[in-house]
Amino acid sequence: MSAPLMSSDTLPLVIVGASLSGVRAAEGARAEGWTGAIVMIGDEPHLPYDRPPLSKALLDADKQPELPTLRRAESWEALDIDLRMSTTATGIDVTRRKLLTDAGPIDYHALVLATGHRARTIGRLDGFDNVHTLRHFDDAVTIRETLRDATRLAVFGAGFIGSEIASAAAARGIDVTLIGTSSFPLARSVGPLAGRMLATLHEDAGVTLLSDSGLAGISSRDNGIDSIRTSCGRDVPVDAVVVGIGSTPATDWLAASSVELDPTSGAVICDSTMATSVPAVWAAGDVASVDGAAGGHWTSATAQGFVAGANAVGAQQTYAGVPFAWSSWHGHRIQIVGATEVDPSGTVTESLDDGVVLYSDGDRLLGAVAVDAPGRIAKLRRALSAELTAARS
Ligand SMILES: Cc1cc2nc3c(=O)[nH]c(=O)nc-3n(C[C@H](O)[C@H](O)[C@H](O)COP(=O)(O)OP(=O)(O)OC[C@H]3O[C@@H](n4cnc5c(N)ncnc54)[C@H](O)[C@@H]3O)c2cc1C
Repeated sequence: MSAPLMSSDTLPLVIVGASLSGVRAAEGARAEGWTGAIVMIGDEPHLPYDRPPLSKALLDADKQPELPTLRRAESWEALDIDLRMSTTATGIDVTRRKLLTDAGPIDYHALVLATGHRARTIGRLDGFDNVHTLRHFDDAVTIRETLRDATRLAVFGAGFIGSEIASAAAARGIDVTLIGTSSFPLARSVGPLAGRMLATLHEDAGVTLLSDSGLAGISSRDNGIDSIRTSCGRDVPVDAVVVGIGSTPATDWLAASSVELDPTSGAVICDSTMATSVPAVWAAGDVASVDGAAGGHWTSATAQGFVAGANAVGAQQTYAGVPFAWSSWHGHRIQIVGATEVDPSGTVTESLDDGVVLYSDGDRLLGAVAVDAPGRIAKLRRALSAELTAARS
């Protein structure tokens, strides 16, 4: 830890986004010795909560739907945060160091952007009463109520969230059709060998998996969809539809600021210290693209938030992490570690080793995908982390 920082008359550290990376930024700043004020603003009405349970335990018929809060009351007290909920950031005046919000401007000493992602939608399905997305706690409560009454559900998107919702619905005995534009689930994250292994999980659980498919048409009544036609030629009668086709960085409010955004993804461009293109402005979590790599997972948001908060108050830390994500489908634990994309040039190979799919570049291990093999993944994760540390020293 560097020397204790700020006196009480210093402007606050302001954090936009009251969720995982925002909370971790506050913890990083306090750990670094920041004694000044911390203002955290969030556009949701809830205390900061954790998102992974929204598509798992919260949809479980046997459990009560409770807000999975991120920290206990005593931790909040220790962090001493001025938490302003139901407040939306609308822009930044970088010259005057002011965050603009719908409740008025806030002067800042340093600013951390932690606004995460928003769920993507399918334009043709927008506005129907029985079409849902899942990003927030309130979405999860709505989907939970939908699953209670539905007997037929269509889910667009065979990625992490679409697959988890399909699993929760299948566990309730709902007739689920899962529609993905690629030829296997999680196609943006894993190669075909792992993809086929994951497809089997859905098929064995009775989910109808339609690959290389999309929305071709709808039939509706009283502002509800009652049937969809897929581009692979199926007519699927439905009680409800969930769109789980991924998410995009919540950076629309930064469009008029000089914070540099990735022209393709819209994410905030940062270096490994989580610094943005603007002095005294830092970013972390899903909203950030760090040295060109998008996050999108819990572990990276946790680590990046801490680094951004610490550096915003004077530390000089760098973020370096081996990518790690987990998911849970039909009672199976899926874990992904390291780099697991297969490039078309064929330099990365995908091979099956004792039930674990390994990704290698020649002799060098890059990553792995496993179902129900936590011990093996933990070992591989340690090995990849050690390699990363050695490469950086
Ligand atoms: C349903 C679901 C399940 C998941 N499951 C897993 C999993 O199993 N494993 C895993 O590794 N990862 C999982 N993730 C991903 C993980 O939860 C995210 O990586 C993590 O939440 C990112 O944290 P964040 O703080 O960067 O962003 P977020 O958690 O998205 O928080 C951003 C906050 O900022 C708020 N905000 C946005 N714009 C503004 C604004 N202009 N003004 C004020 N506030 C604003 C948002 O409303 C939100 O509250 C899941 C995500 C979801 C949605």
